Amino acid sequence: MQTWSDAVKRQDKRIAFVPTMGFLHEGHLSLMKEGRRLGDKLAVSIFVNPAQFGPTEDLESYPRDFDRDCELSEKEGADVIFAPDELYGREFQTYIKLEKLPNHLCGISRPVHFRGVATVVTKLFNIVKPDIAIFGEKDYQQLLVIRQMARDLNFDTEIVGGPIVREPDGLAMSSRNSYLTDEQRVSALSLSKSLKKARAIIEKGITDAAKIIEEASAIITSHPETVIDYIAICDAETLDDMQSIDRPALMALAVKVGKTRLIDNAILSPPH
Ligand code: AMP
Repeated sequence: MQTWSDAVKRQDKRIAFVPTMGFLHEGHLSLMKEGRRLGDKLAVSIFVNPAQFGPTEDLESYPRDFDRDCELSEKEGADVIFAPDELYGREFQTYIKLEKLPNHLCGISRPVHFRGVATVVTKLFNIVKPDIAIFGEKDYQQLLVIRQMARDLNFDTEIVGGPIVREPDGLAMSSRNSYLTDEQRVSALSLSKSLKKARAIIEKGITDAAKIIEEASAIITSHPETVIDYIAICDAETLDDMQSIDRPALMALAVKVGKTRLIDNAILSPPH
């Protein structure tokens, strides 16, 4: 992989990179399109990263379809697919850990998650040597973590965010949606519905964060098999809680539908 990247760089060409855990969907493909647009060569990685899963999480059952992923990536214009079986070797002991951003949202219920993400992205960057890397806003906190890490450690890679791609009915696309039964799929829609509702009541003049969270929570818990992990309204850069929508805010939520943990988010603006 490094040899390929060195050869591309010798030709003065820019490498755009989209890291994924595979089982690709339109969300991933939209990032590849952006990569094609921004770089001369497109590299895609497919690696289900053990370091970002907790001991009771779905590492073993995470959906995989390598042949289909290759087909889709090639169709989207990937010049190279990096899909290692293994990345950590024996006695691995060097991790990247951020001080503040992981103390919010998903980092609370997934204590090793962002350490695993930051570490694997660092390793992948050292291997792929990208000029630009594209990450989805669906994993908003992850995007902040990677931006912060790139700034703090002087990574020579530009970090670009891509918008959330949704199903026609509003469900944010996710490889994990494949776990859902038909009934759970209906319950899963309550995440995007609650974000929509938040926008609607803000337009009516309700800007109190606690009230908005209460309304969102009522929508979600009215659906079967849902357990809310968190619903937060917070500063879109620091992730500190906000009391009121007096400036653009991030609303982020994580909900378990059956055994499947789903996340979604939106930027809320103050009423017009
Ligand atoms: P994953 O394979 O889930 O690790 O995701 C790989 C990349 O795709 C990450 O940067 C995600 O944020 C991004 N991604 C996943 N789902 C979506 C989506 N629905 N819309 C946009 N980007 C997404």
